Amino acid sequence: MLHYSCDICKRPIVAGSDLRHVVKIEVFPAVEDQPCGCPGGGVNQHDSDHLEEMQDLLERLDDAELADIEDDTRSLRFDLCDACRQRFVKNPLGVKGGKQLDFSNN
Ligand SMILES: [Zn+2]
Repeated sequence: MLHYSCDICKRPIVAGSDLRHVVKIEVFPAVEDQPCGCPGGGVNQHDSDHLEEMQDLLERLDDAELADIEDDTRSLRFDLCDACRQRFVKNPLGVKGGKQLDFSNN
C-alpha cells in the first residue's frame, strides 16, 4: 500500500480517511505567437510561408539552445492534505502581499 504525506505540512495522508490532493505545476518558457500583421483579415500569407518561417527558426536554433529550452521546463508534482490544499488555492505562489489572509475558521 502506498503511503503519502503532505508536501507542505508533512502530515501523513491516510488513504480512505484523508483527502489527498495532487498539485501539478508546469514551468516552461512561453512561446509567443507571431503577430499576424494583416489587420484586414485578408489571407495574404500562404500556410507554406508559415512553415518556411518555422523551419528557418528551427535551423537557427542549434542543439545547445534546444537543450536549454528543455532544461527550462520543469514539471512539479506535490501531494497536499485537505487543509494545505485550501491554503494553496488561496495563495498558490505563496506571495506575501499587503492583503492579510486569515485562515482561522470562526
Ligand atoms: Zn498539509
